[in-house]
Amino acid sequence: MKVTDHQKNAKGRTQFTFEILPPLKGQDIQSIFDSIDPLMEFKPPFIDVTYHREEYTYVERENGLLEKRVIRKRPGTVGICAAIQNRYHVDAIPHILCGGFSQEDTENFLIDLDFLGIDNVVALRGDAVKSETYFKPSKGGHAYAKDLVVQIKNLNQGQYLDEEILNSSPTDFCVGVAGYPEKHAEAPSLDNDIHFLKEKIKAGSDYIITQMFFDNQKFFEFETKCREAGINVPIIPGLKPLATLKQLNLIPHRFHVDLPKDLIDAVVKAKDNTAVSEIGVEWCIQQSKELKQHGVPFLHYYSMGKSKNVKKIASALF
Ligand code: FAD
Repeated sequence: MKVTDHQKNAKGRTQFTFEILPPLKGQDIQSIFDSIDPLMEFKPPFIDVTYHREEYTYVERENGLLEKRVIRKRPGTVGICAAIQNRYHVDAIPHILCGGFSQEDTENFLIDLDFLGIDNVVALRGDAVKSETYFKPSKGGHAYAKDLVVQIKNLNQGQYLDEEILNSSPTDFCVGVAGYPEKHAEAPSLDNDIHFLKEKIKAGSDYIITQMFFDNQKFFEFETKCREAGINVPIIPGLKPLATLKQLNLIPHRFHVDLPKDLIDAVVKAKDNTAVSEIGVEWCIQQSKELKQHGVPFLHYYSMGKSKNVKKIASALF
């Protein structure tokens, strides 16, 4: 069932959802089930599964030259989605990227999903590969998430890349896109970013799911600006409980979000990571309560495969 239908069926009730990432190559699917099992009692209508593109490593050869190797450390997004739908009978939502995909690859990826009975995707540009500063589209691939949304929506009309295909069967994907309450790192301003977010909606996206944030005010202001810009689709807040002292620097660096002073002060005073984790959970519970009261359709947690803290938060709310 589509995310938008889950929202309609809930009749205003806020629902619990979460995101997982595929395990590192070499681990089995059990690690995924172990991270999902404890959260199933909160009846998530869907579970998102991230997509991880290739990385480049350089290995020194005997002659001293460097050999470039392309590796994917976390493959398995589609397989995990199929396994989730099969085992838990909840909708699994794969993330799909522009980066690393030609349009042909994208089409084939979508055909696989359609055949598996997956009818939701989150369409993203993806970041630059780790060894490069700027995002570069693959040969024959899309430069922006908006163009990916257009391709998915074309397929929903039965328009395949090969125009000679006759009597084609249309797909029926519900498409989510990313939004950034504190703006995307590359955007010159929040208004400029929202301008391009609106382009993604005009291309046919059905809902927005946000980058993590730790200050609800930033979400409320973003939501107001989106509505003023004429964006009327559901906006789903993404939340992550802070869990370690290291994340105090890592999260702003990696996700380009600010941490509120009160949260930083509390974490700095914590005696160890157990205490940090308790502070992070309590902060996230307070954020979640306020967002629920505000009437958000879903509370979406970035579990990163660690369900213990997300379970504590869900227990306080659902
Ligand atoms: P876009 O919407 O294409 O925007 C990228 C930048 O370009 C923005 O600054 C935007 O303002 C600007 N822009 C857009 N259109 C134009 C235009 N026509 N001209 C000029 N500028 C333009 N990454 C992964 O690798 N795997 C994942 O599974 C994943 N999941 C994510 C889930 C969520 C909820 C979020 C918020 C992010 C996720 N990401 C993931 C990270 C995401 O891929 C990066 O943030 C990426 O840098 C931007 O992706 P986007 O889809 O927002 O890009």
